[in-house]
Amino acid sequence: MAGGTSGLFPSLAEQKKRIEEERKAAALAAAGKIPYEKQLDVYNAAIRAWGVQAQSWMVVEEMSELAKEICKLQRRPAKSLDALADEIADVKIMLEQLCIMHNVHQLVYDHMDKKIERLAERLGLTEGEK
Ligand SMILES: [Mg+2]
Repeated sequence: MAGGTSGLFPSLAEQKKRIEEERKAAALAAAGKIPYEKQLDVYNAAIRAWGVQAQSWMVVEEMSELAKEICKLQRRPAKSLDALADEIADVKIMLEQLCIMHNVHQLVYDHMDKKIERLAERLGLTEGEK
């Protein structure tokens, strides 16, 4: 599976290019059209408007829509990217609200740090850093 330029597993160079593109996108988002503080205002308003239970079910609904788009991607990759991005956006928005509803932002980042470090170790990416 290593090194392919087509299919589901991109080459390391392609992954690095994508990561760089994602970093640029994140930088744009950080300075983007809707500042994070404004996003939080909107998420909190949504939670107040529809309640924790309804927004919790929306998390599940949006995750199932993303799952469907991932499945579609296997059949028609070129046509599904916009729909995939749309559903990823929905899930990210709902996950932000889930973090707010349970006040777990920092806890999530703590878990992410541990998991990313463990993943890096499994991939042999941490040698020489210690
Ligand atoms: Mg959706």
